[in-house]
Amino acid sequence: MRSIYKLLDFIADLFFPNRCPVCDGYIKYDEYICEKCEKELEYADDSYCKRCGQLKCICSSETIYYDAAFSFIYYDGAGKKGIISLKRAKATGFAGLFAEKAVKLLKENDLLSDIDIITSVPVSKRKMRETAYNHAHMFAKMIHRNCDIPVSGKLLSKTDESLVQHELSAEERKQRAAKAYSFTGKEQSVKGKTVLLCDDIITTGSTLNYCSKALKEAGADRVICCTIAMTKFE
Ligand SMILES: [Zn+2]
Ligand SMILES: [Zn+2]
Repeated sequence: MRSIYKLLDFIADLFFPNRCPVCDGYIKYDEYICEKCEKELEYADDSYCKRCGQLKCICSSETIYYDAAFSFIYYDGAGKKGIISLKRAKATGFAGLFAEKAVKLLKENDLLSDIDIITSVPVSKRKMRETAYNHAHMFAKMIHRNCDIPVSGKLLSKTDESLVQHELSAEERKQRAAKAYSFTGKEQSVKGKTVLLCDDIITTGSTLNYCSKALKEAGADRVICCTIAMTKFE
């Protein structure tokens, strides 16, 4: 299965030469990032809390609906550039690079064999119409390529937050954001199951939390979050 993807990457490279997601320089068809930029990535301090995914644990002060959260790098410097290019669908190497690392990390933590389905934080229909692309789902699909666990982009949906956001108080905005994410998949695809929820960045963890709440309410047993980057100062 994986060799087919490699072959497709090789053919695609003949028409659209592969580029580094950070510096935009040319790289080999089977590389995710150039050597120089890879060295510049700043890996997150491993002491962050693996339950809430935060450098300063919030487990005792907030209700966390997900069960574990993993990240790799800080959203800064080369890491920030890589995420931005992934968001613009310009270069998906970042998703590939960290998908390989995610599978390895989940294996090391004895979690990979527990995962039944992989999904991602959704974007709104309007955004999907505009860009026809969800960067978080690109990451989810790349993880699927590395482990063959089923992936679905239809479990969660996001409604459009209206343009009058600035008229709302912080609390109202929070409530609105919470309601924006809903479960729209088939309940049997998550009932009693362990879901891997992917996104590009974790900041406060609230988006992952809203999505996890929706998945749990639909019957998911466990939600494990995996993001490429975390913000440094929160
Ligand atoms: Zn580079
Ligand atoms: Zn914590």
